[in-house]
Amino acid sequence: MHTAESELLVRAYVGIGSNLDDPCAQVLRAIAELDEIPGSCCVRTSSLYRSRPMGPADQPDFVNAVAALDTTLPVLRLFEHLQALELRHGRVRGGQPWGPRTLDLDLLTYGDIRVADDTLTVPHPGVLQRDFVLHPLYEIAPDLCLPGHGSIADYLATCAGHGLERLRSPA
Ligand code: ATP
Ligand code: CA
Ligand code: CA
Repeated sequence: MHTAESELLVRAYVGIGSNLDDPCAQVLRAIAELDEIPGSCCVRTSSLYRSRPMGPADQPDFVNAVAALDTTLPVLRLFEHLQALELRHGRVRGGQPWGPRTLDLDLLTYGDIRVADDTLTVPHPGVLQRDFVLHPLYEIAPDLCLPGHGSIADYLATCAGHGLERLRSPA
């Protein structure tokens, strides 16, 4: 990634999930594609994990991971790229809440900023509550603090469990 000196590099974390159409391959492909987002570079990825679904129980287990991106994109532009990537993976919207999906990309954090508008909330509200987000995030950013919440390490013991199981090392 070429970065002009005047461009500000921001560290963002992206939560990745899939439970359809070869979830491991979906997640690994998404990690490679995150690195190709303009002005962005994937600097770290967690292991892949398996988790039980948070929504309807009659759907396959999920494969989850978290990626760290350094990006020069403004937060809304980055978010648009994440949504476009979901669509490229055949993500169908409008089903059951927390239902099955080929790819889910949640913008967990973007530097130290907070966003609260109609389409985007950052930090993502699920970060501290979900083991399948918090544990992979902690794996690659153990010292991370969330604006307004403090150290993510303080939440590891209290986040909701979804039978999280580590599958394999980072890609
Ligand atoms: P959850 O957000 O609880 O993990 P979900 O991932 O199943 O649930 P989606 O159907 O993927 O939810 O997204 C619903 C909406 O959430 C999106 O259309 C998007 O506008 C909004 N959204 C708000 N903040 C974020 C964020 N930080 N990352 C991704 N989507 C977000
Ligand atoms: Ca999600
Ligand atoms: Ca989502």
